[in-house]
Amino acid sequence: MPTRPPLLDSLGRAHTNLRMSVTDRCNIRCFYCMPEENVEFKPREEILTFEELVRFARICSALGVNKIRVTGGEPLVRRNLPELITALVKIQGIDEIALTTNGILLSEQAEALRQAGLKRLNISLDTLDDDTFFRLSRRRGIERVLEGIATAQRVGFEQIRLNAIAIRGLTEEDIVPLAEFAMQQSLELRFIEFMPLDAEGNWGNSAVLTGATIKETLEEHFGKLIAADRPDASQPAVDFKFTSGKGRIGFINPVSEPFCSTCNRLRITAEGKVRNCLFSTSEWDAQQLLRNGGSDEEIEMLIRDCVLAKKAAHGIDTPEFEKPERAMYQIGG
Ligand code: SAM
Ligand code: SF4
Repeated sequence: MPTRPPLLDSLGRAHTNLRMSVTDRCNIRCFYCMPEENVEFKPREEILTFEELVRFARICSALGVNKIRVTGGEPLVRRNLPELITALVKIQGIDEIALTTNGILLSEQAEALRQAGLKRLNISLDTLDDDTFFRLSRRRGIERVLEGIATAQRVGFEQIRLNAIAIRGLTEEDIVPLAEFAMQQSLELRFIEFMPLDAEGNWGNSAVLTGATIKETLEEHFGKLIAADRPDASQPAVDFKFTSGKGRIGFINPVSEPFCSTCNRLRITAEGKVRNCLFSTSEWDAQQLLRNGGSDEEIEMLIRDCVLAKKAAHGIDTPEFEKPERAMYQIGG
């Protein structure tokens, strides 16, 4: 519940959305996010406890944050995750809690997560093809992801969205089958452009399959897409409906059409570093305050400093762009 002035940055953007990473570990190795081998994970004692995460979330809610997305690494590898959800749901002023998962462990955990009060799930599904899944994630397991989706539907999640990262030269053939799958299952599907957050430095503009290209492919196959209403102006996705009326498709185009001017997101990494952007090159250390007797006021000041330092835009398209040192799995997507 906001009891303090809102979290405004120097451009007047109010920060109401917290991305909370609960682990940097993962059970697969997507090439756009993690190295294939010798992954450097933070020692377990560095990772924030549930109590620390909940305290941080409570402080954020007093500053006007009303949405939390739990992410990682793979959040479902964090032991007893439903306990964290139960505690987050109780925080006054948090209207929406969502979780982003690769779906591998979802069939085992969907029921407990739903019972803990989680209503919204984003499940990453870049392909339906076993070999492409292996090429992307360097692991097998697409059938477990599909089982996870089916279980989540069965246990009554109110909103399940599929996220597909699109890579030129790799996932073009997946666009139409994914859209057909989403339609059949009555799920929302969002395509996300590949961002320079991979661990091995292989990102290049030429690997970005843009939202516009994907939309063309879909329109060739399904006919014209119809723009859908946009209830939340700060949402990064631009959504469309099919003429058939079934299914909904969205595009998140951070590279070809950056949405920084309406960004309302704040992030905390699994070990308690606060970030104002996926691409920020500075971090603010909340762990140190959380563990050394820092007061709520001191943590509030740290969050405000972080938000105030937010740049106008990520600048991927500018010559000055500096890739952050940390890859996606270390930040929290
Ligand atoms: N492990 C979970 C998962 O994969 O859904 C949650 C964490 S993951 C980092 C969150 C989202 O970030 C996923 O949908 C993933 O596809 C996306 N992602 C990872 N690396 C990316 C990149 N370089 N560019 C764009 N999206 C990326
Ligand atoms: Fe793991 Fe998610 Fe990163 Fe893939 S995108 S390696 S599933 S954290």
